[in-house]
Amino acid sequence: MSKHRHTEPPSDLVLRVKALESLLLEKGLVDAAALDILIDTYENKVGPRNGAKVVARAWADPAYKTRLLADATTAIAEFGFVGRQGEDMLVVENTPGIHNLTVCTLCSCYPWPVLGLPPVWYKAAPYRSRAVHDPRGVLREFGLELPEDVEIRVWDSTAELRYLVLPERPTGTESFSEDELASLVTRDAMIGVAKATAPDGTAGANT
Ligand code: FE
Repeated sequence: MSKHRHTEPPSDLVLRVKALESLLLEKGLVDAAALDILIDTYENKVGPRNGAKVVARAWADPAYKTRLLADATTAIAEFGFVGRQGEDMLVVENTPGIHNLTVCTLCSCYPWPVLGLPPVWYKAAPYRSRAVHDPRGVLREFGLELPEDVEIRVWDSTAELRYLVLPERPTGTESFSEDELASLVTRDAMIGVAKATAPDGTAGANT
């Protein structure tokens, strides 16, 4: 797979960061709990809120959705969400018959401008291998049981192309504003290991 180039994990950089973190903790300049909160913020809040805005716009505006599916990089750039690991984006749409799941089998390619930092499990070997060989089993472990007649499409991210899943719009959201719609779009739904949150707050019960 010579075409399958990935972003090399910055091992030297990671080590330097770890060393700095240890030093700061040791000197009492930061505390571990505060660091955890900071990382959680970027993994779960700041980054994925960008992607959620894109998804909500696609749900609310059919013309935007058409542009997004035709040329995701350009449509996402309309929000100003550009930058490293977001240069070449493809948005894949879930439908009642098709569920999309994204992975990077070789490392951790991930669309940073719309999703922020990848979660630890996304970078871990079990997810990277099993998402391809047993996607249905992986989804089940995330609490998403799909009917047998739903086709699961697995998309392997590379340095050239990164994916964002466009989840199905939950029913009962016809009167929702774009902001309200965005609040239903989770990071996991845009990776493809969950569905969007239902209006009553139920995880993934959107069809
Ligand atoms: Fe990769």
